[in-house]
Amino acid sequence: MLEYKQALRKVMKLAKARRAIPLPLEECLGCVLARERKSLVALPPFDNAAVDGYALGSLGSHTYCVRAEIRAGDSFKGTLTKGKAAQIFTGAPVPRGTKAVVMQEYTERVNGSVKVLKNSEKSENIRRSGEDVMRGTSLLKAGTILNPPQLALLAASGYKSAAVFSPPKVSILVTGSEITRPGGKLKSGKIFDSNSILLRSLVTQSGGVPVNVASVRDHASKIRSSIVTGLESDLMLISGGVSVGKYDRVKDILEQEGVQRIFWKVNIKPGKPLYFGKRGRCLVFGLPGNPVSVFVTFFLFVRPVLRKMLGMREVREEITGRMTTNYQNGIRRHFVRVRCEAHGKGYQVTPLKQQGSHMMVSLASANSLLEVAPRALLKRYQNVTVQRIS
Ligand code: AMP
Ligand code: MG
Repeated sequence: MLEYKQALRKVMKLAKARRAIPLPLEECLGCVLARERKSLVALPPFDNAAVDGYALGSLGSHTYCVRAEIRAGDSFKGTLTKGKAAQIFTGAPVPRGTKAVVMQEYTERVNGSVKVLKNSEKSENIRRSGEDVMRGTSLLKAGTILNPPQLALLAASGYKSAAVFSPPKVSILVTGSEITRPGGKLKSGKIFDSNSILLRSLVTQSGGVPVNVASVRDHASKIRSSIVTGLESDLMLISGGVSVGKYDRVKDILEQEGVQRIFWKVNIKPGKPLYFGKRGRCLVFGLPGNPVSVFVTFFLFVRPVLRKMLGMREVREEITGRMTTNYQNGIRRHFVRVRCEAHGKGYQVTPLKQQGSHMMVSLASANSLLEVAPRALLKRYQNVTVQRIS
């Protein structure tokens, strides 16, 4: 059986960054920028007024002769000289020769002139060209996950589209004759399907696009037709049916449909029966059906694949804290659901009680995973490093 790191290495070797495609900014939210972007213009592009008021050709006078009115959007050519002013509005270009802009609130207009009731500092209320960013300087680095302010920055700098890594299409197949769609009354012998929503939201959260989300019974023909469709996507995730039971048919059907097995089974808990294979450009994970196994194997193996496809480095958020109890591990590398909480100046780590891979309350209340080596004994007060999952 493969160890965790060996298995991860095999997976990451086959995961490839996708090609970059240009997309209109309107479609780029959450996408990963494939190339650094430099500003196409200076921001602000020209010296302009920060307030509504008067551009002054000199400082220190009481009364100025108003020579012009300059509105936002105007292109103004004239120059202001000593004792002259121009009425100006926020965002309008300040004329050459402007020493400061005084706020309208501190002025009194009398026909062709304006009285200034407050002394201005030099350059007051003038937004200088390039003070935000100079033309040609870097705005955003490759790998940035574009958020609304970053999209606005690209737009302000003149971009209408961006080269991004196209989000991988991920098909999701949930198997099991016991699975029923949530809603309605639960029939005898059945359980509500929690893996569909789990996988769908994990995929979305990791930057993939869920497609062909299907749930089928443990019938070979049903599984086969969903697999045939699913293998057309970039990544296929299947839950259930990869263990050793008589009705665990997923592996055989995958291989009959041309999937090459890379490995089956990893020495981890939960998630030991994990299956990984590929056909053409499609990578396939068979995830053991218990929701906790689905979550943990997704977190350990699938998420890094999606991130690599999206041109991102896998960055794990790690925190070191002190154990609040002893923890004795069994024979497999265990990814323990824990709560890691701020305590005094540091953190404390508490393994949750119910660690069965079918137990979902502890999954929903965990905020971190603690990796514990086979047979290790962790002592109370010992420092451990956990990985954030929420
Ligand atoms: P399997 O990997 O098919 O042997 O399934 C392992 C366990 O996970 C069984 O107890 C299943 O009932 C459970 N399971 C499988 N699929 C789902 C699902 N979609 N939602 C919740 N539990 C599931
Ligand atoms: Mg099953």
